[in-house]
Amino acid sequence: MRQHRLFFCPQCHRQTVWLNVQQACQLIEVDRRTLYRYMEQGKIAYRQRPSGRGRFVCHDCLLKLPEGDVGQ
Ligand SMILES: [Zn+2]
Repeated sequence: MRQHRLFFCPQCHRQTVWLNVQQACQLIEVDRRTLYRYMEQGKIAYRQRPSGRGRFVCHDCLLKLPEGDVGQ
């Protein structure tokens, strides 16, 4: 299984690693609902899976989230 998916992130302006929703939640320790809220608010870049089910989010965008927003 491939661990890393490299795609261009329009918010980071470079190629970054993309995580699935579960991995992203574990990385910044939030639940799925919070993660989806960040996506809808444009705080983190996301891509739709080719299958249309689920999403990938940009690893670097997750790390750039303002600290105050994480863990709420
Ligand atoms: Zn990004």
